[in-house]
Amino acid sequence: MTRPVLDVRELTKVYGTGEATVHALRGVSLAVGRGDYVAIMGSSGSGKSTLMNILGALDVPTSGTYLLDGVDVSRLADRQLALARNRLIGFIFQAFNLIPRTTAVANVELPLAYAGVRPRERRRRAMAALELVGLADRARHEPNQLSGGQQQRVAVARALVTEPALLLADEPTGNLDSRSTEDVLEVFDQLSAAGRTIVLITHEPEVGDRAHRLIRLMDGRIVTDRRQRPAPVPAGRHSA
Ligand code: ADP
Ligand code: MG
Repeated sequence: MTRPVLDVRELTKVYGTGEATVHALRGVSLAVGRGDYVAIMGSSGSGKSTLMNILGALDVPTSGTYLLDGVDVSRLADRQLALARNRLIGFIFQAFNLIPRTTAVANVELPLAYAGVRPRERRRRAMAALELVGLADRARHEPNQLSGGQQQRVAVARALVTEPALLLADEPTGNLDSRSTEDVLEVFDQLSAAGRTIVLITHEPEVGDRAHRLIRLMDGRIVTDRRQRPAPVPAGRHSA
């Protein structure tokens, strides 16, 4: 494997002190190569959200190291952490988290606005991202004029518009019916085929089945790590 997008070693996370101490992660090691598509499953309390928050640079581990695209995130101070997060990660949430009364295209443009991209370029890239998720014809719709599946596809477009190293999704189909779930999974399949790196958390077996690699957490440890489809071929020197 060339340099992994994610390289996590012996992560631990301890909450609280004394009698209230909780060992949420007990030594998680994990490398995810560029272009891989990984699902993390596990029962409630197994440490999924704790791990996602650390992978997403929203929280820091108690011990262990975490390299994100070669950057040692575990050593960054808050401000640098926020910068790394914006530059390297596209988040997708269970509840979509779109801005209400704001068009789909404006929602997708938002992270580019934060990144200082000029308006014309923003609009062009946001439209391309909406095209990619099959929603170019809904660009002027506001979230409440879109179905749940469409809202989540807008959220996927927003996550990928900055070209992040990693797409990180926490229960992305948790609020969707089976039809919309399928639509979103098709978008993930397509992004994966295009070389995007995807890590998601899910409770749903049919979502886990679609990923190329399935990891199970139990009591703060990885108990299985199974490849379901071949690892992506590392990009050659001459490809992007
Ligand atoms: P999951 O997402 O798999 O349900 P979590 O990562 O949320 O699991 O939680 C793992 C363990 O850590 C649980 O026992 C939970 O109660 C505990 N925990 C999570 N967050 C906190 C917190 N902020 N303070 C104390 N304990 C926590
Ligand atoms: Mg959770």
